[in-house]
Amino acid sequence: MSESEQSGQASVQNYIGSQWTDATGSDGTDVVNPATGETLSYVGFSTEDDVDDAVQRGQEAFESWSQRPIEERIQPLFELKALLEANIDELAELLVREHGKTFGEAKGELRRGIENVETACGMPTLMQAGHVENAAPDIDETAVRQPLGVFAAITPFNFPGMIPLWFLPYAVASGNSFILKPSERDPLTAKRLFELIDEAGFPDGVVQLINGSVDTVNAILEHDGIEGVSFVGSTPVARTIYEKAAANGKRVQAQGGAKNHVIVSETANLEFAARKSVSSALACSGERCLANDIICVEESVYEEFVDLVVDVADEQVVGYGLDEETDIGALITPEHEDRVRNYVEIGIQEGANLVLDGRDVEVDGYENGNFFGPCIFTDVTEDMVIAREEIFGPVLGLMPVADVDEGIEVVNASDFGNAASLFTDRGAEARNFRHNAQAGNLAVNAGTAAPMAFFHFGGRKDSFFGDLHAQAEDVVRFYTDETVYIERWPDA
Ligand code: NAD
Repeated sequence: MSESEQSGQASVQNYIGSQWTDATGSDGTDVVNPATGETLSYVGFSTEDDVDDAVQRGQEAFESWSQRPIEERIQPLFELKALLEANIDELAELLVREHGKTFGEAKGELRRGIENVETACGMPTLMQAGHVENAAPDIDETAVRQPLGVFAAITPFNFPGMIPLWFLPYAVASGNSFILKPSERDPLTAKRLFELIDEAGFPDGVVQLINGSVDTVNAILEHDGIEGVSFVGSTPVARTIYEKAAANGKRVQAQGGAKNHVIVSETANLEFAARKSVSSALACSGERCLANDIICVEESVYEEFVDLVVDVADEQVVGYGLDEETDIGALITPEHEDRVRNYVEIGIQEGANLVLDGRDVEVDGYENGNFFGPCIFTDVTEDMVIAREEIFGPVLGLMPVADVDEGIEVVNASDFGNAASLFTDRGAEARNFRHNAQAGNLAVNAGTAAPMAFFHFGGRKDSFFGDLHAQAEDVVRFYTDETVYIERWPDA
């Protein structure tokens, strides 16, 4: 019996056909507050039968949902937006308790999630394809976007409130039914989201929640009744999901891990660039796929910039995410904390210079938390492990480069291609960066290249497997098939 069962706490259930039911698998895991070590709940893992049950409900729902007028299909999304707005503080607090980030960060991610619900309410426009009169003699030609059936999304732990909403609202507004499999490490936010979905008025089976881990994901990938899978998570898993889903004849979009860079030109406002770079690397304790944790600085301003970065990073307060003064919250699990600690050891062994060492940080009153203070390395070189692999913790490395062009070469040599930023005061450098840096999300004079919901979101190289990305028109195309229709009326 798990700790949460012993203490009588409610476990996290599935939401299938508008009913809350227990997963029938014998495995599961405790959900633990990463800052206090307190067990919050228990999540049971779903079996093939649970997945099959949800798929069948989803298929039944699809028959009538896909035929409803599009204006009707977006009405529950307007309700959902209002419910999310009304409950945003409570949701953010829950998210902090199970994830460890700060309250401001939690609220910020929920706001980005709500933006996706708003954008999907524009489905009557987003679903429009095209029409050409006289495509051939007396023939008019039309393309229509049509929904396909049941889709599933498998999401990571680091944005439990936002990432499900990169997919869910678009899938259902375009006429499909949708199943979410959230991370087993922080499933409580999704559970609360589905309580609000229940209130929002979707017909039974249109939106469903299945909890679980690897076996549940495999059951999703192998189920014939699922048309397509959206995945967000680490690169090795993304690659596997891409291969297995494709082998099973499904559409698939799989977003993977990252290693992102900032380039600092000698012309940049260095103080501004230092603040934004530190925030980009350390926000959400570095557990972000958009964290820019390698900074390539023009040699002429390297020493000055290092001092600025160390000063700003040293000001960061590590603590419980619900305490107002906290800048950096807890890491998700003790195992992940060990992994980040190990990367810092590797950096030292590789010969990088650890100029700020947050490894021994202690937070009064939270002795059981997975806290890790900011670590700053200087003199990082491109061949080092800490320069190439995703650390996913509050660890930042600085690297001198001859000029912005060399910085772009460092960006392009990475196996990953999720994001990159340039700080500069020169338009020509910015233009060169935009044309030549190989990453899916670029920013000039901004630390984090986060796209709004009305643009798509996805990386390149090992950061993304597939072609159509999350959010906006890309994901609508993922969730629909374009049927081309030609017509001729000989007597006309
Ligand atoms: P993860 O890959 O461990 O897990 C993601 C999901 O996959 C979870 O739902 C999990 O249950 C499932 N899963 C885990 N191992 C599996 C396996 N072997 N087979 C099938 N399913 C499996 O990722 P995480 O630790 O939850 O999230 C962090 C990672 O996600 C980081 O690498 C981060 O960069 C990445 N991420 C990427 C983006 C992006 O847009 N590219 C966004 C957020 C997070």
